[in-house]
Amino acid sequence: MQATRQYAQQADANDTLRSFRQAFYFPQFKGRDVLYFCGNSLGLQPKTALSYLMQEMEDWKNLGVEGHFQGRNPWFEYHKFVSPKAARLVGAKEVEVVVMNNLTVNLHLMLISFYRPTAQRYKIMVEGGAFPSDYYAVESQLRLHGFSPETAMVELEPRAGEHTLRTEDILAAIEKEGDSLALVLLGGVNYYTGQFFDLKRITEKAHQVGAKAGYDLAHAAGNVPLSLHEWQVDFAVWCTYKYLNSGAGGTSGVFVHEKYAQDPTLHRLAGWWGYDESKRFQMQKGFIPMQGAAGWQLSNAQILPMALHWASLEIFEQAGMDRLRQKSLALTAYTEFLVQQFNQEQDKIRIQIITPAEKEARGCQLSLVVAQKGKDLHQFLTENGVIADWREPDVIRIAPVPLYNSFEDVYDFYQLLQQYTQS
Ligand SMILES: *Cc1c(COP(=O)(O)O)cnc(C)c1O
Repeated sequence: MQATRQYAQQADANDTLRSFRQAFYFPQFKGRDVLYFCGNSLGLQPKTALSYLMQEMEDWKNLGVEGHFQGRNPWFEYHKFVSPKAARLVGAKEVEVVVMNNLTVNLHLMLISFYRPTAQRYKIMVEGGAFPSDYYAVESQLRLHGFSPETAMVELEPRAGEHTLRTEDILAAIEKEGDSLALVLLGGVNYYTGQFFDLKRITEKAHQVGAKAGYDLAHAAGNVPLSLHEWQVDFAVWCTYKYLNSGAGGTSGVFVHEKYAQDPTLHRLAGWWGYDESKRFQMQKGFIPMQGAAGWQLSNAQILPMALHWASLEIFEQAGMDRLRQKSLALTAYTEFLVQQFNQEQDKIRIQIITPAEKEARGCQLSLVVAQKGKDLHQFLTENGVIADWREPDVIRIAPVPLYNSFEDVYDFYQLLQQYTQS
């Protein structure tokens, strides 16, 4: 790798996915595209999104309630157009995935079903520094069952002087909690450090001690390769507005392993849309769930957010997660290389990358700790057309997204870092 514009341009010329950049709208800065590194927070708008939305608006306009059955994509079964594509994206069978609600809502629905504590086995293990909504969901679920977070929530912490967790330490902690552990609940990719956990081995170990394994894949879906079915994950949830580019507050995905698909006795909060669809409109008492993840639906499908999600999933199907991952590894490696290059060139500021260096242990995001003047640097970048986010106390997160970021974007970012030290 070389820290030259020519090298970056050559890498872009060799990139078989480069045309996908044209499929998205970029916010503008002084007449050009911003350097957008915030796809981990809100993905860009696909140019096709509006037409997906308009189609449903027109069917509503022209058909009214008949849109449920007469629409071009009948709303009655709308989740079926979207869920299979979402399933492919996370390495799941169709029966295992449904798109519905929002992430934290779905996390609660899953916890109701999969956190069934006893006096013996009641603890939930989370990663220290989990996303706040995950903490709140866990705290409130523990209290709902009469436990206190102080004693029933186990937090994994990195070793002294380290920023991320070692797999061996996670496995040892699970082993140690043993039969007091009811559930391991991790962010598949931690939102702060960008660490991608070894979900296969963690799931295996959780099952060995008799616990369930569930994951919040907000930062993993559309970012890293997932094989939820094969890894025997019990459940997972994710949002669709980050790497999945489906619009602010967009809908969410849920995975429930096939082994629970035929189990109507599993406790769940029920609603009419989870009811066996062949008999749904008989409007009977006595809940009979749909098979699989679809049986966790409560309400009729949110057509408009799901239309946006559909538009984005089509793009993922065309690009392919394998090719995206390949590009992502190269693009993030190049970003890392340029940051290291920058550190060597000057001694005004030092940027420490706290995201793991091993490619299996990260997605596209790099979390940069800027010990001094971090906020000042972030401000400078913002004023110069970079969209990247700042997380207290000292982290700038940048996510070069393989769908729409280029090697030259990353090179431009590097040049701005250089300009900052000269300013
Ligand atoms: C973004 C994110 C959320 C957001 O939850 P919503 O219910 O979509 O608002 C939750 N958990 C994690 C890990 C996240 O990264």
